[in-house]
Amino acid sequence: MISLFGEPEAAECSRAQCREAAAWRIEWRNPKIHDETRRKIWLACEEHREYLVGFLEARNFPVEALPFTSPEETHE
Ligand SMILES: [Zn+2]
Repeated sequence: MISLFGEPEAAECSRAQCREAAAWRIEWRNPKIHDETRRKIWLACEEHREYLVGFLEARNFPVEALPFTSPEETHE
């Protein structure tokens, strides 16, 4: 069972107006406002991973993209 660390419940791409299923989890932080242990999570579809990572890298934020798998076997 994967812990979701407060990710949005709908596993959709974080790009505005994109409703694609997320395939990537992008973990990042803003060193100016987040301390070392904080992580913000964005979700991205295949198409927008590069866009979102590039957006963060352009601001020199530490960013890491990890494969995202939605919890398919949740127990009600
Ligand atoms: Zn997308």
